[in-house]
Amino acid sequence: MKLNSKSFGYSTWLLVAAITSGTVLTLSCVPRHRHSSKNSADSASQPVAKVNPNEGLNPAPPPPPPAAPVPSNPKTGNVNIDRFLELWTNIHNMSNGYFSPEGIPYHAIETLIVEAPDYGHETTSETYSYWVWLESMYGKVTNDWTHLDRAWRNLEYYMIPKHVDQPTNVAYNPTKTATYAPEMDRPDDYPVALQGTVAVGLDPIGKELRDTYGYTDIYAMHWLMDVDNWYGFGNRGDGTSHGSLFNTFQRGIQESVWETVPQPCWDEFNWGGKFGYLDLFVADSKPAKQWKYTNAPDADARAVQAMYWAKKWADERGGNPTVDGIAKKASTMGDFVRYSFFDKYFKKLGCKDPSCPQGTGYDSAHYLLSWYFAWGGAIPGGGIWAWRIGSSHTHSGYQNPMAAYALSHDPALRPTSPNGARDWGTSMTRQLEFYRWLQSNEGGFAGGATNSWNGRYMAPPAGTKTFYGLPYVESPVYMDPPSNEWFGFQVWSIERLAEYYYVSGDPKAEMMLERWVKWVKKNTKLLPDGTYQIPSTLKWSGQPANDWNESSQSWDAKDANYNNSLHVQVTQFTDDVGTTAGLVHTLEFYAAKKGDKEARILCKELLDRMWTKFRDDKGISSPEQRADAKRFNEKVFVPANWQGKMPNGDPIGNKSTFLSIRSKYKQDPAFKQVEAFLKGGKPPEFHYHRFWSQTHIALAYATYGWLFPKF
Ligand code: CA
Repeated sequence: MKLNSKSFGYSTWLLVAAITSGTVLTLSCVPRHRHSSKNSADSASQPVAKVNPNEGLNPAPPPPPPAAPVPSNPKTGNVNIDRFLELWTNIHNMSNGYFSPEGIPYHAIETLIVEAPDYGHETTSETYSYWVWLESMYGKVTNDWTHLDRAWRNLEYYMIPKHVDQPTNVAYNPTKTATYAPEMDRPDDYPVALQGTVAVGLDPIGKELRDTYGYTDIYAMHWLMDVDNWYGFGNRGDGTSHGSLFNTFQRGIQESVWETVPQPCWDEFNWGGKFGYLDLFVADSKPAKQWKYTNAPDADARAVQAMYWAKKWADERGGNPTVDGIAKKASTMGDFVRYSFFDKYFKKLGCKDPSCPQGTGYDSAHYLLSWYFAWGGAIPGGGIWAWRIGSSHTHSGYQNPMAAYALSHDPALRPTSPNGARDWGTSMTRQLEFYRWLQSNEGGFAGGATNSWNGRYMAPPAGTKTFYGLPYVESPVYMDPPSNEWFGFQVWSIERLAEYYYVSGDPKAEMMLERWVKWVKKNTKLLPDGTYQIPSTLKWSGQPANDWNESSQSWDAKDANYNNSLHVQVTQFTDDVGTTAGLVHTLEFYAAKKGDKEARILCKELLDRMWTKFRDDKGISSPEQRADAKRFNEKVFVPANWQGKMPNGDPIGNKSTFLSIRSKYKQDPAFKQVEAFLKGGKPPEFHYHRFWSQTHIALAYATYGWLFPKF
C-alpha cells in the first residue's frame, strides 16, 4: 500500500519517526508465560543477593526538568555551532513542550502522531539515547556537563526498569532461558501456543553478568513509555504513576502500529480481559501474572556511542568525574546489551527446523546488534520464575560499529565482565563483514539476515545466500511497510560507520563508505529554487552474491562488480529534516577523514537550505501530509469471544479499531483534521517536532562547526 502525498510515502512517515524502537518489538515481545512451579525449583539453589545493590537499579529521583540557562549561551562566532546552541535552547525552553513536567523527553512536542510510538507524548529508548547525544555535544561546546548528568539520571530513573519493576530475576536460570513460542505471519494468527518440547539453548552470559555485577537484574532500557500515563496503566499495576512502561507490538511481521493492542509491561490483570492482555498473544488456559520488558539495542548502543564522545571531549578539557561515572554506567549497559548478540532461543546458527540443536555456549551468537532482547518474570505472588530471550532477526539499520569499537577498545567503556570487551570486539568485526555482505552494487545497504526463518525456524527457500549460516532477508522483522524501504535506516546506521572510519581510519570502512557516498551524491538534488531532495523510499531486488563466513570473504575495493546480484533503486525523494540531518551527519565524518571537499560542500548546502526553509520558533520542521491517518479506523484483530476493557473503559473486542481502544484521541486538538479526513476530506497536514529529529539536526550543525570550523 502506498498512500502518496508529495514525497512522503506511507512508508516514510511510519518510519520517519522511530522505526527503531517501534516495529522493533513486533516479534520481540511475544510474551512467554512460564509457569512458576517448574521453574522456581531450578533456580532456588542459586546464591544471589535478594536485594539489588546497584544504584542504577535503585536510583534516586532525577533533578528537576532541564531549563535553558538565562542568559542564554553567548554566541561563539562559528555559525553552525551557534545554530546548534539556538536549537539546543529551543529544546530546553520548557514552554516549547519537548519535556514533560518530570523532565522526560517526549517522542514529539505534538500529541497526535502515530508511527512507531502510537501517541506523541510517549517516549522511547531511542529518544533518550538522542538526548544523551545532545547533552554530550552540549558539554563539548560549553564544558557544562550538568545537562548530561541530568539526562542520564532521568534515563536511569524512568527508562531502565528499577529493581522493583523486575523483581524476580533471582529465579532466572541461564540453562533454562525461556519456553519456545513460534512467531506467526498475521495478527489474526495469534494467540500462539507455547511449545515446551522445542529445545532451547544455554545463555552463556547470564552467570557471567551476575558474577560480575553481583545482581541478577538487567541494566538496559525498555523501549517504550507512556510519559503522562495517557493510557492509565501506571507502573506496577498502580494505574496512576507517570513514566509508565508499556508495550504495543506483539503479533508478527504484518502487525503495523495501527493494528496493535497497547498493554502494560506489568500485567496484574487489572485491565484487558480476564487474564489481562496476556492471552491475546499466547494461548494459555491459565496464564500467571507477570512483568516483561523489551530492549531496542540500537538505542542503548547509541547512548554508549554518545558517551564515548562525552568522555573524550571531557578528557580533552582535563576530565570530569560526572562524565567518568556515566561512562562507567554506559559500559555496564553495553555489557548487558550483549544479549542482542544471541539467537532468540539460543539455538545454534544455521537453524532450519524447530528441532535444530540448541546452543551450548557462544555457538548461538551471531554477534550482531539484533532487533531486540527481552526479559520477564513472575509478579510476586505469581510464582518465582524469570525468562530471557535474544533475537534471531538482524537488520543493517541497527548496527553500530562505533559503539562496538568503544566497548572493545576504549578503556573507559570496556565492560568489567571477563568476556564483554572481547565479545564487542568480535561484534565490531562481524558488523563490518555484515555491511560488506549487504552492500548493494549501487552502494545502499540491504536488509539483513535471520537465524529463524519466518520467526519459527523454518527452512529458507533453496539458494538463499547466508551470513554465518543466517539466510538473507530483504525486509527483516516487519512488512507493513517493508522494513528496509526507509532511507533513514541508511543514514542512522552509516553515520556510525562513518564515525568509526573517522576514529579508526579502517580501510574496510573506507571502501564501503566510498561506494555508499557515491550512490548518495547521485541521488541527492540541490534544486535551483533553494530547496533540496534526498532519498526517501528504496526498492530492493536480488540478494548478496555469496555465502559469507570466516573463510569466504570479499574485500577487494576495486571490484566494481561486487554484489552485482543485489540492487537498490530510489523510488521516492523527500526533504524530511530528520533524515536530511542524518545524511549530513554521516557525510561530515566521511568528508573530514577522506578530505572529500564535494561531500563537505553538499553538507553545507543542505544545512543552509534546511535552516532557511524550515526554521520555525521551536526548531526545524517541514510539513507532512499524513494520508495514513485513515488507519485510525482500521480494525484491530481481537479473537472471537475475547472481551476486555482499556483502563479508561474503552471496550476491547472483535469490533475494536485503532481509535475505539484509544478514544481519548477524540479530545486531541489535532483530531478534528483527522475526523474531517475520515469523513472524506483532505489528509491532515502537520508540522512535527520529533525529539530525535530535532536533536539530530542540532548535532549535524554542531558537527559541521566542529569538523570544518573555517568553512
Ligand atoms: Ca498489517
